[in-house]
Amino acid sequence: MVSRVIPVDDFDLVIFGATGDLAHRKILPGLFRRFVAGQIPETSQIIGAARTQQDDAQFRDAVAAAIVEHAGVKKNDPRLVQFLKLLGYVAIDATGQGGWKELAGRMRADAIHAFYFSVAPSLFGDLAERLASHGMAHGDSRIVVEKPFGRDLASARALNQTLAQHFDEDQVYRIDHYLGKETVQNLMAVRFANILFEPLWNAQYVDHVQITVAETVGVVGRGSYYDKSGAIRDMVQNHMMQLLCLIAMEPPYHFDPDAVRDEKLKVIRALEPVEPADIVRGQYEGDDGAGSYLDDVGDPDSRTESYIAMKVRISNWRWQGTPFYLRTGKRLRARTSEIAITFKEPPHSIFDDTGAPKANELVIRLQPNEGMNLKVMIKEPGPGGMRLVQVPLDMSFADALGAEGQDMPDAYERLIMDVIRGNQTLFMRGDEVEAAWAWTDPIIDSWEDSKRRPEPYDAGSSGPEEALRLMHRDNRRWREIRA
Ligand code: NAP
Repeated sequence: MVSRVIPVDDFDLVIFGATGDLAHRKILPGLFRRFVAGQIPETSQIIGAARTQQDDAQFRDAVAAAIVEHAGVKKNDPRLVQFLKLLGYVAIDATGQGGWKELAGRMRADAIHAFYFSVAPSLFGDLAERLASHGMAHGDSRIVVEKPFGRDLASARALNQTLAQHFDEDQVYRIDHYLGKETVQNLMAVRFANILFEPLWNAQYVDHVQITVAETVGVVGRGSYYDKSGAIRDMVQNHMMQLLCLIAMEPPYHFDPDAVRDEKLKVIRALEPVEPADIVRGQYEGDDGAGSYLDDVGDPDSRTESYIAMKVRISNWRWQGTPFYLRTGKRLRARTSEIAITFKEPPHSIFDDTGAPKANELVIRLQPNEGMNLKVMIKEPGPGGMRLVQVPLDMSFADALGAEGQDMPDAYERLIMDVIRGNQTLFMRGDEVEAAWAWTDPIIDSWEDSKRRPEPYDAGSSGPEEALRLMHRDNRRWREIRA
Protein backbone atom coordinates (compact mmCIF):
# COMPACT_ATOMS: atom_id res chain seq x y z
CA MET A 1 0.00 0.00 0.00
CA VAL A 2 1.47 3.38 -0.95
CA SER A 3 0.35 6.37 1.04
CA ARG A 4 -0.62 9.45 -0.87
CA VAL A 5 1.01 12.65 0.34
CA ILE A 6 -0.81 15.68 -0.91
CA PRO A 7 1.39 18.77 -0.56
CA VAL A 8 -0.18 21.73 1.19
CA ASP A 9 -0.16 25.23 -0.25
CA ASP A 10 2.71 27.59 0.42
CA PHE A 11 2.48 28.95 3.99
CA ASP A 12 4.05 31.20 6.61
CA LEU A 13 3.71 29.58 10.04
CA VAL A 14 4.66 31.58 13.12
CA ILE A 15 5.28 29.56 16.31
CA PHE A 16 4.96 31.69 19.42
CA GLY A 17 6.83 29.83 22.17
CA ALA A 18 9.30 28.40 19.65
CA THR A 19 12.00 28.02 22.32
CA GLY A 20 9.71 25.94 24.57
CA ASP A 21 9.30 22.26 25.29
CA LEU A 22 6.29 21.58 23.07
CA ALA A 23 7.82 23.34 20.06
CA HIS A 24 11.10 21.43 20.45
CA ARG A 25 9.62 18.00 21.20
CA LYS A 26 6.55 17.94 18.98
CA ILE A 27 5.84 20.87 16.67
CA LEU A 28 9.21 21.35 14.96
CA PRO A 29 10.12 17.63 14.67
CA GLY A 30 6.60 17.07 13.32
CA LEU A 31 7.06 19.78 10.70
CA PHE A 32 10.41 18.27 9.77
CA ARG A 33 8.82 14.86 9.19
CA ARG A 34 6.11 16.40 6.99
CA PHE A 35 8.84 18.20 5.05
CA VAL A 36 10.69 14.92 4.53
CA ALA A 37 7.41 13.33 3.41
CA GLY A 38 7.17 15.99 0.70
CA GLN A 39 4.11 17.69 2.11
CA ILE A 40 5.63 21.12 2.83
CA PRO A 41 6.62 23.36 -0.10
CA GLU A 42 10.27 24.40 0.01
CA THR A 43 9.21 28.04 -0.30
CA SER A 44 7.28 27.96 3.00
CA GLN A 45 8.50 29.86 6.06
CA ILE A 46 8.45 28.70 9.68
CA ILE A 47 9.13 31.64 11.94
CA GLY A 48 9.93 31.11 15.61
CA ALA A 49 8.99 33.78 18.12
CA ALA A 50 9.69 34.08 21.87
CA ARG A 51 11.35 36.55 24.24
CA THR A 52 14.83 34.96 23.99
CA GLN A 53 17.13 37.22 21.99
CA GLN A 54 18.72 35.28 19.15
CA ASP A 55 19.12 35.53 15.39
CA ASP A 56 17.94 33.17 12.65
CA ALA A 57 21.20 31.17 12.72
CA GLN A 58 21.07 30.58 16.49
CA PHE A 59 17.45 29.52 16.26
CA ARG A 60 18.27 27.07 13.45
CA ASP A 61 21.05 25.55 15.55
CA ALA A 62 18.70 25.04 18.49
CA VAL A 63 16.01 23.53 16.26
CA ALA A 64 18.55 21.25 14.56
CA ALA A 65 19.58 19.91 17.99
CA ALA A 66 15.92 19.36 18.94
CA ILE A 67 15.19 17.50 15.70
CA VAL A 68 18.30 15.34 16.04
CA GLU A 69 17.11 14.42 19.53
CA HIS A 70 13.41 13.91 18.81
CA ALA A 71 13.19 12.87 15.17
CA GLY A 72 16.15 10.51 15.18
CA VAL A 73 18.17 12.02 12.30
CA LYS A 74 21.84 12.89 12.05
CA LYS A 75 22.95 16.50 12.30
CA ASN A 76 24.35 16.56 8.77
CA ASP A 77 21.38 14.80 7.16
CA PRO A 78 20.81 16.73 3.91
CA ARG A 79 17.06 16.74 4.52
CA LEU A 80 17.61 18.49 7.85
CA VAL A 81 19.96 21.02 6.24
CA GLN A 82 17.28 21.70 3.63
CA PHE A 83 14.52 22.01 6.24
CA LEU A 84 16.50 24.51 8.34
CA LYS A 85 16.45 26.91 5.39
CA LEU A 86 12.71 27.36 5.97
CA LEU A 87 13.30 28.65 9.49
CA GLY A 88 13.59 32.20 10.79
CA TYR A 89 13.26 33.86 14.18
CA VAL A 90 11.93 37.12 15.59
CA ALA A 91 12.33 38.06 19.27
CA ILE A 92 8.91 39.06 20.57
CA ASP A 93 7.39 39.52 24.01
CA ALA A 94 3.69 38.74 23.79
CA THR A 95 3.02 41.52 26.28
CA GLY A 96 5.34 44.08 24.68
CA GLN A 97 5.61 46.06 21.46
CA GLY A 98 9.07 45.08 20.13
CA GLY A 99 9.40 42.74 17.16
CA TRP A 100 5.83 42.91 15.87
CA LYS A 101 6.59 45.21 12.94
CA GLU A 102 9.48 42.99 11.90
CA LEU A 103 7.23 39.94 12.07
CA ALA A 104 4.52 41.63 9.98
CA GLY A 105 7.22 42.59 7.46
CA ARG A 106 8.33 38.96 7.08
CA MET A 107 4.84 37.65 6.26
CA ARG A 108 4.32 37.20 2.52
CA ALA A 109 1.12 38.50 0.93
CA ASP A 110 0.51 35.45 -1.22
CA ALA A 111 1.05 32.69 1.40
CA ILE A 112 -1.30 31.15 3.97
CA HIS A 113 -0.75 32.71 7.40
CA ALA A 114 -0.96 30.55 10.54
CA PHE A 115 0.00 31.50 14.11
CA TYR A 116 0.62 28.73 16.64
CA PHE A 117 0.14 29.88 20.26
CA SER A 118 2.50 27.45 22.03
CA VAL A 119 2.74 29.63 25.12
CA ALA A 120 0.91 29.83 28.46
CA PRO A 121 -2.84 30.42 27.95
CA SER A 122 -2.57 33.68 29.92
CA LEU A 123 -0.76 35.11 26.84
CA PHE A 124 -3.35 34.07 24.23
CA GLY A 125 -5.29 37.35 24.56
CA ASP A 126 -2.13 39.48 24.23
CA LEU A 127 -1.05 37.59 21.13
CA ALA A 128 -4.47 37.86 19.46
CA GLU A 129 -4.68 41.56 20.20
CA ARG A 130 -1.19 42.35 18.89
CA LEU A 131 -1.64 40.26 15.76
CA ALA A 132 -4.78 42.30 15.09
CA SER A 133 -3.21 45.67 15.81
CA HIS A 134 -0.32 44.86 13.44
CA GLY A 135 -2.63 43.84 10.60
CA MET A 136 -2.01 40.08 10.83
CA ALA A 137 -5.53 39.02 11.91
CA HIS A 138 -6.92 39.30 8.39
CA GLY A 139 -9.79 37.09 7.22
CA ASP A 140 -7.61 34.31 5.88
CA SER A 141 -5.19 33.90 8.81
CA ARG A 142 -5.50 31.11 11.38
CA ILE A 143 -4.56 30.76 15.02
CA VAL A 144 -3.76 27.47 16.73
CA VAL A 145 -4.48 27.38 20.43
CA GLU A 146 -2.94 24.84 22.80
CA LYS A 147 -4.57 23.23 25.79
CA PRO A 148 -5.64 23.90 28.48
CA PHE A 149 -8.54 25.89 27.05
CA GLY A 150 -9.72 27.45 30.32
CA ARG A 151 -10.01 25.75 33.70
CA ASP A 152 -13.79 26.09 34.01
CA LEU A 153 -16.74 27.36 32.00
CA ALA A 154 -16.24 31.00 32.97
CA SER A 155 -12.56 31.11 31.96
CA ALA A 156 -13.18 29.16 28.72
CA ARG A 157 -16.00 31.52 27.82
CA ALA A 158 -13.83 34.55 28.59
CA LEU A 159 -11.04 33.12 26.40
CA ASN A 160 -13.46 32.43 23.56
CA GLN A 161 -14.73 35.99 23.80
CA THR A 162 -11.21 37.43 23.79
CA LEU A 163 -10.23 35.48 20.68
CA ALA A 164 -13.56 36.31 19.01
CA GLN A 165 -12.75 40.01 19.21
CA HIS A 166 -10.06 39.49 16.57
CA PHE A 167 -10.72 36.13 14.88
CA ASP A 168 -13.85 34.41 13.57
CA GLU A 169 -14.60 30.89 14.79
CA ASP A 170 -13.49 29.43 11.46
CA GLN A 171 -10.02 30.92 12.06
CA VAL A 172 -9.54 29.36 15.52
CA TYR A 173 -7.99 25.87 15.79
CA ARG A 174 -8.22 24.55 19.37
CA ILE A 175 -5.85 21.61 19.70
CA ASP A 176 -6.80 18.38 21.38
CA HIS A 177 -3.92 16.23 20.20
CA TYR A 178 -5.95 13.06 20.88
CA LEU A 179 -8.04 13.94 17.83
CA GLY A 180 -4.90 13.88 15.70
CA LYS A 181 -4.08 10.29 16.66
CA GLU A 182 -4.53 7.96 13.74
CA THR A 183 -6.49 5.40 15.76
CA VAL A 184 -8.84 8.00 17.18
CA GLN A 185 -9.77 8.99 13.66
CA ASN A 186 -10.10 5.31 12.96
CA LEU A 187 -13.00 5.22 15.40
CA MET A 188 -14.99 7.18 12.86
CA ALA A 189 -13.85 4.95 10.01
CA VAL A 190 -14.76 1.78 11.92
CA ARG A 191 -18.19 3.12 12.83
CA PHE A 192 -19.21 4.89 9.67
CA ALA A 193 -17.45 3.00 6.87
CA ASN A 194 -18.72 -0.46 7.90
CA ILE A 195 -22.29 -1.67 7.94
CA LEU A 196 -21.33 -4.30 10.48
CA PHE A 197 -21.30 -2.34 13.70
CA GLU A 198 -23.79 0.46 13.32
CA PRO A 199 -27.01 -1.62 13.65
CA LEU A 200 -25.70 -2.94 16.99
CA TRP A 201 -24.34 0.38 18.22
CA ASN A 202 -27.07 1.26 20.70
CA ALA A 203 -28.54 0.47 24.10
CA GLN A 204 -30.47 -2.49 22.75
CA TYR A 205 -27.27 -4.41 21.99
CA VAL A 206 -24.49 -2.68 23.94
CA ASP A 207 -24.32 -3.55 27.63
CA HIS A 208 -21.71 -0.94 28.51
CA VAL A 209 -18.63 0.88 27.25
CA GLN A 210 -15.28 1.23 29.05
CA ILE A 211 -12.81 3.96 28.13
CA THR A 212 -9.40 3.65 29.76
CA VAL A 213 -6.39 5.94 29.51
CA ALA A 214 -3.72 4.59 31.86
CA GLU A 215 -0.23 6.03 32.30
CA THR A 216 2.77 4.62 34.12
CA VAL A 217 4.41 7.99 34.68
CA GLY A 218 3.63 10.16 37.69
CA VAL A 219 3.53 13.93 37.86
CA VAL A 220 7.10 14.52 38.92
CA GLY A 221 8.53 17.49 37.03
CA ARG A 222 5.14 19.06 36.34
CA GLY A 223 3.60 18.62 39.80
CA SER A 224 2.72 22.25 40.39
CA TYR A 225 0.84 22.49 37.07
CA TYR A 226 -0.88 19.13 37.49
CA ASP A 227 -1.92 19.75 41.08
CA LYS A 228 -4.08 22.67 39.93
CA SER A 229 -5.78 20.47 37.30
CA GLY A 230 -6.04 16.87 38.41
CA ALA A 231 -7.18 14.05 36.18
CA ILE A 232 -10.59 15.58 35.55
CA ARG A 233 -9.25 18.78 34.01
CA ASP A 234 -6.14 17.24 32.49
CA MET A 235 -7.78 14.21 30.84
CA VAL A 236 -11.55 13.87 31.29
CA GLN A 237 -12.84 17.28 30.21
CA ASN A 238 -10.89 17.14 26.96
CA HIS A 239 -9.32 13.88 25.72
CA MET A 240 -11.73 11.37 27.25
CA MET A 241 -14.69 13.55 26.39
CA GLN A 242 -13.57 13.49 22.75
CA LEU A 243 -13.28 9.69 22.77
CA LEU A 244 -16.71 9.41 24.38
CA CYS A 245 -18.19 11.70 21.72
CA LEU A 246 -16.70 9.75 18.82
CA ILE A 247 -18.09 6.49 20.24
CA ALA A 248 -21.52 7.84 21.15
CA MET A 249 -22.35 10.36 18.43
CA GLU A 250 -24.90 9.92 15.67
CA PRO A 251 -23.55 9.55 12.14
CA PRO A 252 -22.85 13.04 10.77
CA TYR A 253 -24.45 13.73 7.40
CA HIS A 254 -20.98 14.24 5.94
CA PHE A 255 -17.35 14.12 7.10
CA ASP A 256 -17.35 17.85 7.33
CA PRO A 257 -16.02 19.99 10.22
CA ASP A 258 -19.30 21.42 11.42
CA ALA A 259 -21.34 18.28 10.73
CA VAL A 260 -18.95 16.21 12.91
CA ARG A 261 -18.71 18.84 15.61
CA ASP A 262 -22.50 19.35 15.72
CA GLU A 263 -22.93 15.65 16.48
CA LYS A 264 -20.23 15.68 19.17
CA LEU A 265 -21.86 18.70 20.79
CA LYS A 266 -25.19 16.87 20.97
CA VAL A 267 -23.53 14.04 22.92
CA ILE A 268 -21.97 16.45 25.42
CA ARG A 269 -25.29 18.21 25.90
CA ALA A 270 -27.00 14.85 26.52
CA LEU A 271 -24.60 13.87 29.33
CA GLU A 272 -26.39 13.50 32.65
CA PRO A 273 -24.90 15.13 35.73
CA VAL A 274 -22.70 12.60 37.54
CA GLU A 275 -23.64 11.70 41.12
CA PRO A 276 -20.74 11.77 43.64
CA ALA A 277 -21.45 8.07 44.33
CA ASP A 278 -20.57 7.32 40.70
CA ILE A 279 -17.08 8.82 40.92
CA VAL A 280 -13.93 7.48 42.53
CA ARG A 281 -10.83 9.61 42.89
CA GLY A 282 -7.41 8.30 43.81
CA GLN A 283 -3.87 9.41 44.60
CA TYR A 284 -0.88 7.15 44.08
CA GLU A 285 1.33 6.14 46.97
CA GLY A 286 5.10 5.96 46.71
CA ASP A 287 7.20 2.86 46.23
CA ASP A 288 10.89 2.06 46.53
CA GLY A 289 11.81 3.82 43.33
CA ALA A 290 9.70 6.96 43.50
CA GLY A 291 7.66 9.24 45.70
CA SER A 292 3.94 9.46 46.29
CA TYR A 293 1.67 11.93 44.54
CA LEU A 294 1.86 14.14 47.63
CA ASP A 295 5.69 14.03 47.50
CA ASP A 296 5.68 14.78 43.79
CA VAL A 297 3.51 17.88 44.15
CA GLY A 298 5.18 18.91 47.41
CA ASP A 299 1.91 19.41 49.27
CA PRO A 300 0.96 16.89 51.99
CA ASP A 301 -2.62 18.25 52.07
CA SER A 302 -3.37 18.15 48.34
CA ARG A 303 -6.81 16.69 47.50
CA THR A 304 -6.16 16.67 43.75
CA GLU A 305 -6.75 13.30 42.08
CA SER A 306 -4.12 11.49 40.03
CA TYR A 307 -6.76 8.87 39.18
CA ILE A 308 -10.44 9.13 38.43
CA ALA A 309 -13.07 6.57 37.51
CA MET A 310 -16.65 7.48 36.76
CA LYS A 311 -19.91 6.11 35.48
CA VAL A 312 -21.43 8.36 32.86
CA ARG A 313 -24.90 8.21 31.37
CA ILE A 314 -26.07 9.70 28.11
CA SER A 315 -29.69 10.76 28.01
CA ASN A 316 -30.81 10.10 24.49
CA TRP A 317 -32.66 7.43 22.53
CA ARG A 318 -29.56 5.61 21.42
CA TRP A 319 -27.87 5.23 24.79
CA GLN A 320 -30.61 5.22 27.42
CA GLY A 321 -29.63 2.47 29.87
CA THR A 322 -26.08 1.86 28.59
CA PRO A 323 -23.48 3.25 31.01
CA PHE A 324 -20.09 4.52 29.87
CA TYR A 325 -17.35 3.89 32.43
CA LEU A 326 -14.34 6.17 32.17
CA ARG A 327 -11.07 5.81 34.04
CA THR A 328 -7.71 7.45 33.77
CA GLY A 329 -4.76 7.70 36.07
CA LYS A 330 -1.05 8.03 36.61
CA ARG A 331 1.49 5.52 37.93
CA LEU A 332 -0.75 2.64 36.92
CA ARG A 333 0.30 -0.87 35.98
CA ALA A 334 0.75 -0.23 32.26
CA ARG A 335 0.56 2.51 29.68
CA THR A 336 -2.49 1.83 27.64
CA SER A 337 -5.44 3.63 26.02
CA GLU A 338 -8.40 1.64 24.81
CA ILE A 339 -12.12 1.67 24.28
CA ALA A 340 -14.02 -1.54 24.98
CA ILE A 341 -17.59 -2.04 23.84
CA THR A 342 -19.21 -4.95 25.62
CA PHE A 343 -22.28 -6.25 23.83
CA LYS A 344 -25.18 -7.98 25.53
CA GLU A 345 -25.33 -11.73 25.76
CA PRO A 346 -27.48 -13.57 23.22
CA PRO A 347 -31.08 -13.59 24.47
CA HIS A 348 -31.29 -17.38 24.45
CA SER A 349 -28.73 -20.16 24.31
CA ILE A 350 -29.48 -23.17 22.14
CA PHE A 351 -26.51 -24.99 23.64
CA ASP A 352 -27.01 -27.08 26.74
CA ASP A 353 -24.49 -27.06 29.53
CA THR A 354 -21.53 -27.08 27.16
CA GLY A 355 -20.58 -23.48 27.89
CA ALA A 356 -23.09 -20.66 27.58
CA PRO A 357 -22.21 -18.01 24.99
CA LYS A 358 -20.35 -15.08 26.49
CA ALA A 359 -20.90 -11.47 25.51
CA ASN A 360 -19.03 -10.28 22.44
CA GLU A 361 -16.55 -7.53 23.08
CA LEU A 362 -14.98 -5.07 20.65
CA VAL A 363 -11.79 -3.46 21.91
CA ILE A 364 -10.22 -0.59 20.02
CA ARG A 365 -6.64 -0.08 21.16
CA LEU A 366 -5.31 3.45 20.78
CA GLN A 367 -1.91 2.66 22.27
CA PRO A 368 0.28 0.72 22.35
CA ASN A 369 -0.03 -1.58 19.34
CA GLU A 370 -2.98 0.23 17.75
CA GLY A 371 -5.60 -2.12 16.51
CA MET A 372 -8.87 -3.89 17.12
CA ASN A 373 -9.86 -7.05 18.89
CA LEU A 374 -13.30 -8.63 18.56
CA LYS A 375 -14.09 -11.47 20.90
CA VAL A 376 -16.36 -14.07 19.32
CA MET A 377 -17.65 -17.48 20.36
CA ILE A 378 -16.64 -20.57 18.39
CA LYS A 379 -16.77 -24.30 18.89
CA GLU A 380 -13.84 -25.70 20.77
CA PRO A 381 -12.09 -28.00 18.28
CA GLY A 382 -12.19 -31.75 18.67
CA PRO A 383 -14.70 -34.50 19.15
CA GLY A 384 -16.85 -34.88 22.22
CA GLY A 385 -19.78 -32.65 21.56
CA MET A 386 -20.38 -28.96 21.20
CA ARG A 387 -18.23 -27.03 23.63
CA LEU A 388 -18.02 -23.27 23.20
CA VAL A 389 -14.96 -21.13 23.63
CA GLN A 390 -14.37 -17.39 23.23
CA VAL A 391 -11.51 -16.40 20.90
CA PRO A 392 -10.16 -13.06 19.74
CA LEU A 393 -10.26 -11.83 16.17
CA ASP A 394 -7.20 -9.69 16.67
CA MET A 395 -5.86 -7.13 14.26
CA SER A 396 -2.88 -4.89 14.73
CA PHE A 397 -3.04 -1.95 12.31
CA ALA A 398 0.75 -2.05 11.98
CA ASP A 399 0.64 -5.66 10.75
CA ALA A 400 -2.44 -5.16 8.59
CA LEU A 401 -1.10 -2.06 6.86
CA GLY A 402 2.49 -3.20 6.37
CA ALA A 403 5.20 -0.55 6.18
CA GLU A 404 2.69 2.25 6.21
CA GLY A 405 1.19 1.03 9.46
CA GLN A 406 4.64 1.08 11.08
CA ASP A 407 5.10 4.72 10.30
CA MET A 408 1.93 6.46 11.32
CA PRO A 409 2.28 10.24 11.54
CA ASP A 410 2.36 11.80 14.97
CA ALA A 411 -0.82 13.64 16.02
CA TYR A 412 0.86 17.04 15.76
CA GLU A 413 2.01 16.40 12.19
CA ARG A 414 -1.48 15.62 11.08
CA LEU A 415 -3.08 18.52 12.95
CA ILE A 416 -0.64 21.18 11.74
CA MET A 417 -1.16 20.11 8.14
CA ASP A 418 -4.94 20.34 8.71
CA VAL A 419 -4.49 23.91 9.93
CA ILE A 420 -2.68 24.81 6.72
CA ARG A 421 -5.36 23.06 4.67
CA GLY A 422 -8.04 24.96 6.59
CA ASN A 423 -9.77 21.80 7.81
CA GLN A 424 -11.23 22.15 11.33
CA THR A 425 -12.80 18.67 11.63
CA LEU A 426 -10.24 17.49 14.19
CA PHE A 427 -10.28 20.68 16.27
CA MET A 428 -12.68 21.59 19.04
CA ARG A 429 -15.23 24.26 18.36
CA GLY A 430 -15.79 26.97 20.98
CA ASP A 431 -19.31 25.81 21.92
CA GLU A 432 -18.05 22.23 22.28
CA VAL A 433 -15.39 23.27 24.79
CA GLU A 434 -17.87 25.36 26.73
CA ALA A 435 -20.42 22.52 26.84
CA ALA A 436 -17.72 20.16 28.13
CA TRP A 437 -16.88 22.58 30.93
CA ALA A 438 -20.57 23.12 31.72
CA TRP A 439 -20.81 19.36 32.40
CA THR A 440 -17.48 19.15 34.25
CA ASP A 441 -17.83 22.22 36.50
CA PRO A 442 -20.48 20.79 38.89
CA ILE A 443 -18.41 17.60 39.28
CA ILE A 444 -15.38 19.68 40.29
CA ASP A 445 -17.43 22.03 42.49
CA SER A 446 -19.10 19.24 44.42
CA TRP A 447 -15.70 17.65 45.10
CA GLU A 448 -14.21 20.95 46.21
CA ASP A 449 -17.16 21.52 48.57
CA SER A 450 -16.77 18.07 50.10
CA LYS A 451 -14.15 17.37 52.72
CA ARG A 452 -13.25 13.99 51.24
CA ARG A 453 -9.78 12.91 50.30
CA PRO A 454 -8.86 10.82 47.23
CA GLU A 455 -8.46 7.08 47.88
CA PRO A 456 -4.84 5.94 48.04
CA TYR A 457 -3.64 3.36 45.51
CA ASP A 458 -0.35 1.58 45.08
CA ALA A 459 1.94 2.81 42.32
CA GLY A 460 1.99 0.10 39.66
CA SER A 461 -1.52 -1.14 40.51
CA SER A 462 -4.80 -0.80 38.58
CA GLY A 463 -6.04 2.04 40.79
CA PRO A 464 -7.99 2.23 44.05
CA GLU A 465 -10.13 -0.65 45.34
CA GLU A 466 -13.18 1.61 45.35
CA ALA A 467 -12.98 1.85 41.58
CA LEU A 468 -13.41 -1.94 41.41
CA ARG A 469 -16.49 -1.62 43.58
CA LEU A 470 -17.93 1.01 41.23
CA MET A 471 -18.12 -1.77 38.65
CA HIS A 472 -18.94 -4.70 40.93
CA ARG A 473 -21.96 -2.79 42.19
CA ASP A 474 -23.33 -3.07 38.64
CA ASN A 475 -22.24 -6.70 38.25
CA ARG A 476 -19.53 -5.72 35.81
CA ARG A 477 -15.73 -5.78 35.84
CA TRP A 478 -13.07 -3.46 34.57
CA ARG A 479 -10.87 -4.89 31.89
CA GLU A 480 -7.39 -5.66 33.09
CA ILE A 481 -4.92 -2.83 32.59
CA ARG A 482 -2.05 -4.29 30.60
CA ALA A 483 0.17 -3.15 27.81
P1 NAP B 1 7.43 26.06 27.96
O1 NAP B 1 8.45 25.00 27.72
O2 NAP B 1 7.39 26.74 29.29
O3 NAP B 1 7.61 27.15 26.82
C1 NAP B 1 6.95 28.37 26.87
C2 NAP B 1 7.36 29.20 25.67
O4 NAP B 1 6.72 30.47 25.77
C3 NAP B 1 8.84 29.46 25.58
O5 NAP B 1 9.22 29.41 24.22
C4 NAP B 1 8.97 30.87 26.11
O6 NAP B 1 10.11 31.42 25.53
C5 NAP B 1 7.69 31.48 25.57
N1 NAP B 1 7.24 32.67 26.32
C6 NAP B 1 7.06 32.78 27.65
N2 NAP B 1 6.64 34.03 27.96
C7 NAP B 1 6.54 34.69 26.80
C8 NAP B 1 6.17 36.01 26.45
N3 NAP B 1 5.81 36.90 27.37
N4 NAP B 1 6.19 36.35 25.15
C9 NAP B 1 6.55 35.47 24.19
N5 NAP B 1 6.92 34.21 24.45
C10 NAP B 1 6.93 33.83 25.75
O7 NAP B 1 5.96 25.53 27.71
P2 NAP B 1 5.50 24.32 26.76
O8 NAP B 1 5.56 23.06 27.55
O9 NAP B 1 6.23 24.40 25.48
O10 NAP B 1 3.95 24.63 26.56
C11 NAP B 1 3.47 25.61 25.67
C12 NAP B 1 1.95 25.53 25.61
O11 NAP B 1 1.58 24.23 25.17
C13 NAP B 1 1.25 25.70 26.96
O12 NAP B 1 -0.01 26.31 26.74
C14 NAP B 1 1.02 24.27 27.43
O13 NAP B 1 -0.07 24.16 28.32
C15 NAP B 1 0.73 23.59 26.11
N6 NAP B 1 0.99 22.15 26.10
C16 NAP B 1 2.26 21.67 26.27
C17 NAP B 1 2.49 20.30 26.21
C18 NAP B 1 3.87 19.74 26.38
O14 NAP B 1 4.00 18.51 26.22
N7 NAP B 1 4.89 20.53 26.63
C19 NAP B 1 1.43 19.42 26.00
C20 NAP B 1 0.15 19.93 25.82
C21 NAP B 1 -0.05 21.30 25.86
P3 NAP B 1 10.94 32.66 26.12
O15 NAP B 1 11.23 32.36 27.56
O16 NAP B 1 12.14 32.70 25.24
O17 NAP B 1 10.05 33.84 25.95
